[in-house]
Amino acid sequence: RGICKYSTAAAIEEPINPSVKVHYNQLLINGQFVDAASGKTFPTLDPRTGDVITHVAEGEAEDINRAVSAARKAFDDGPWPKMTAYERSRIMLRFADLLEKHNDEIAALETWDNGKPYEQSAKIEVPMLTRLFRYYAGWADKIHGLTIPVDGSLHVQTLHEPIGVAGQIIPWNFPLLMFGWKVGPALACGNTVVLKTAEQTPLSALYVSKLFHEAGLPPGVLNVVSGFGPTAGAALASHMEVDKLAFTGSTDTGKVILQLAAKSNLKPVTLELGGKSPFIVCEDADVDKAVEMAHFALFFNQGQCCCAGSRTFVHERVYDEFLEKAKARAVERVVGDPFKEGIEQGPQVDSDQFEKILGYIRSGIEGGATLEAGGERFGAKGYYIKPTVFSNVQDDMLIAKEEIFGPVQSILKFKDLDEVIRRSNASRYGLAAGVFTHNIDTANTLTRALRVGSVWINCFDVFDAAIPFGGYKMSGHGREKGIYSLSNYLQVKAVVTPLKNPAWL
Ligand code: NAD
Repeated sequence: RGICKYSTAAAIEEPINPSVKVHYNQLLINGQFVDAASGKTFPTLDPRTGDVITHVAEGEAEDINRAVSAARKAFDDGPWPKMTAYERSRIMLRFADLLEKHNDEIAALETWDNGKPYEQSAKIEVPMLTRLFRYYAGWADKIHGLTIPVDGSLHVQTLHEPIGVAGQIIPWNFPLLMFGWKVGPALACGNTVVLKTAEQTPLSALYVSKLFHEAGLPPGVLNVVSGFGPTAGAALASHMEVDKLAFTGSTDTGKVILQLAAKSNLKPVTLELGGKSPFIVCEDADVDKAVEMAHFALFFNQGQCCCAGSRTFVHERVYDEFLEKAKARAVERVVGDPFKEGIEQGPQVDSDQFEKILGYIRSGIEGGATLEAGGERFGAKGYYIKPTVFSNVQDDMLIAKEEIFGPVQSILKFKDLDEVIRRSNASRYGLAAGVFTHNIDTANTLTRALRVGSVWINCFDVFDAAIPFGGYKMSGHGREKGIYSLSNYLQVKAVVTPLKNPAWL
């Protein structure tokens, strides 16, 4: 099929032109596309080549002010929180229909800007986004408070109200899914939003937000500002008129965000941060299946997943067989232009990430791990890296401690369950874990002992809209998706009314 496996290809063939145009490259404020107040723009690049796709308006503090004012007005005076929940739900459902209708254009834009395989964008991510908006549309008219029996002749009730203006800052690894995880629950609860996209991948959020307006979203309810973290992002996090902040990104930036929120108006913050997730292959595991799942757990999305199974712990009894097969699987991984059919791995998102990953690979080699496969760039241009496998990885090596965020699998050997629990938990992160076993007792023990927000048993990266996701420890706080995400975007008001006639208590 003209697909080049990395072991045989010397270079990437000429990139395929995506069959999509960039229609929107300005800021979306109050339902209108506008230039940045400064008139500045910045380039967004094609990771396959490093070439400029287009220049995008560069939002800064003044643009964040404009966007927050629009969101404030749409919340305080506008129709969104006052509209019936059913009507909000219908607009979200119409948006989901438009996502479905434009699935392939959206997917192409996402792949072009991010580098992920088109098949992944078109068959997995855009459909997941559509599904997610249908899921949260379903919640819009099912959000309500309680009546609470108390001592005395009192009627006590709670109202679940939207918080107000939600500021949301997202990363580049899943631009559309991050858009959905943030915007879906916020709008279902009746909030208005200012979204700051990642500077590496601004395009898809602008496109889908335009569709949202076509679906009937009133102006000012969803504002999208492209721009950089220390300027646009920081202005949003520290804005006095923003009532809630949701952030996904690195742990270091998460710390900055919390400080900005604390120094401004103490807005509540949810954080989805980094990870160094263990993937534990037990002695009874079916090795072929475990190899495939561990491979997927690490290499999916070019290894650019916060929950990537980036510490592959393998029981000593199956270690040698696992290693040989894991190595063979990595060498077979199909790397190349993400617009080609059958491609499993495209380029990393940009040159910073590319260089950072190559730096970690050097540190693995210098630190004494054994390089079993890959370890270098793939092709002559763009940000492609060969699928890389290290064995003999020790817990104190940088590659076992820090988030690499790239296609680098680190394989570690363990002897017994207590040991692997201790080593798995000896991380500042606690985002997710994979467990591969058919022994129900082993699975139950690991499930309870691992200090992580998600445990996938004999599977990995299952991201249904209804399943909550989030971290323990320095992987963040709060949960996104599912019913749990709604509480991030709601205030609870207690209302107490004396009853005139105690006979009807
Ligand atoms: P990053 O923290 O540098 O950037 C993320 C977002 O924050 C971007 O929009 C960026 O512009 C903004 N930002 C950067 N500095 C800022 C500042 N000072 N003030 C306000 N905003 C600022 O992260 P990255 O390197 O671009 O993304 C990768 C990281 O994100 C990884 O560490 C990964 O684990 C994490 N991540 C976590 C999850 C999760 O759900 N837990 C999901 C995806 C990515």
